[in-house]
Amino acid sequence: MIRLPDLVRKYAFHTPDKMATYFEGRAHSWAQFSARMHGAAKALQDLGVGPGDRVAFLGMNSHWLVEMYLVPSMIGALCVPINYRLSEDEMAETIDDCTPQILIVDRHFQEQAAALMERCPSLETLIFADWDAPAPVLPPDTLNYDDLIAQAGNVAADAFDDLASASDDTMILFYTSGTTGQPKGVMLSHSNMQANATGTGPLYKYRSDDVLLLSGPMFHLGTGSRVFTSIVYGTTKIIQAKFEVEETMRLIQDQKVTTMTMVPTMLRMILDHPTFPTFDFSSLRCLTYGAAPMPIGVISQCLEQIPDVTFCQGYGMTEAAPNLCVLRPEDHEPIDGVIPKLASVGRPIHTTDLRIVDENDKPVKQGETGELTVRGPQIMNGYWNKPEETGEAMRGGFYHTGDAGYEDEDGYIYLVGRTKEMIITGGENVYPIETENCLSKHPDVASAAVLGLPHDKWGEMVVAVVALHDGARVTGDDLIAYCRGKIAGYKVPKSIRIWDGPLPLSHTNKIDKQKIRAKISETTD
Ligand code: ATP
Ligand code: MG
Repeated sequence: MIRLPDLVRKYAFHTPDKMATYFEGRAHSWAQFSARMHGAAKALQDLGVGPGDRVAFLGMNSHWLVEMYLVPSMIGALCVPINYRLSEDEMAETIDDCTPQILIVDRHFQEQAAALMERCPSLETLIFADWDAPAPVLPPDTLNYDDLIAQAGNVAADAFDDLASASDDTMILFYTSGTTGQPKGVMLSHSNMQANATGTGPLYKYRSDDVLLLSGPMFHLGTGSRVFTSIVYGTTKIIQAKFEVEETMRLIQDQKVTTMTMVPTMLRMILDHPTFPTFDFSSLRCLTYGAAPMPIGVISQCLEQIPDVTFCQGYGMTEAAPNLCVLRPEDHEPIDGVIPKLASVGRPIHTTDLRIVDENDKPVKQGETGELTVRGPQIMNGYWNKPEETGEAMRGGFYHTGDAGYEDEDGYIYLVGRTKEMIITGGENVYPIETENCLSKHPDVASAAVLGLPHDKWGEMVVAVVALHDGARVTGDDLIAYCRGKIAGYKVPKSIRIWDGPLPLSHTNKIDKQKIRAKISETTD
């Protein structure tokens, strides 16, 4: 497959004046985008970056980050987008794991960058990516990204042809969300990204004249993969530093955005905002969402209030670059007020060889629950620095997703939970999501998390922690009584605690069960 920076060169040749990126009032054409990337690659090379080296980027979304996704690979190196929501200690853990020598930072994270330069032994050079001079918090020898590009001058289009990574080489490391353990660095190649783009593009109906808005955090592959699809399709990218509901609506209207990716919570915030009806969304054509189940209320409201837009759901994970399954626009059409397959994550895309297996890796029958395993061109090269975890996850040549699910008679896939979260109580398997869904239907419950705690008699015991809506007074015992009869007895929690305030969320806004488990184990002893 073609290497991604070569696609930028192709569009710089075919559509030189078309806008490639737009960020905070500044537009770069494809010709400028390509020239900037060549200048930045030369600068990194002059700083001693070579094949296999890592270049870390700590910052919100920007055209600098879009460029840096690709630039290191031009000289055979790897980009590592750092999750800026991490604490400084966690950032240092990530840096020490992938040991980059270069750190690029934007204006929002100068203090963290200064501290990381002090404490992370691998870091040698700090580059500031912003238009203004760096603030005094940064070390005096900090370099400026745009100055480096200016100093590089005109760089020949084929200057790095001998160095560029091959299409199957790792070109970027994305860290997983850390929902089930320590975040792992996932090694992804040019081919992985293109397989994702060409696998999903026809289903999402991407077009080269799309105007894509990037609002979700680009350190996460959910939004990050849209950058790569836009490179494959030659699309214009409107970049927003981070999602801000009113500013996002303004950008959609003013920049005539046609497509973007959101998590269901972002859509809910847009629909609920008092100024929502004052914005013109007529340019919007296709909205994709994923990472969490879509509530029927939200999608119904979307279909009614944002007409002429098609909706698509993507299911996947960092290790799969990221899409495995897609719930297509045509699957979102209501039949008698019901969207029949909305509870599913859609069907495998054509590049996905998906098998659902039991604990001995033997395929289960249709309709039976097992672990989703997958083989295909979008699957990662492995975990950075973790050969054992890679071997375990890739056993038998199939990537083991850690998600449990089943297939219906039409080939649609339904997730029931994570295999690691499955609770075995008295020999029965319980997936927390079923109990959580039951609890969530109670009008007083804002959110629920179900876990298994060790138990002498049953092996594990089902317990729940719930956050209530303001002013609600329901007790744990009331909620246990509510669940009885609605789900099998062994799935009903033996104890339910009311959490003080909202349930804690991880850095990618998933419920942080590790934190909840630590807290309740502490108070149970
Ligand atoms: P870690 O691997 O570090 O424990 P993580 O699996 O949450 O964290 P990601 O790669 O960001 O890290 O998320 C992938 C997971 O998100 C999937 O395995 C799945 O459980 C969940 N997910 C993704 N898409 C959907 C979706 N459309 N509906 C429901 N869950 C989804
Ligand atoms: Mg995972």
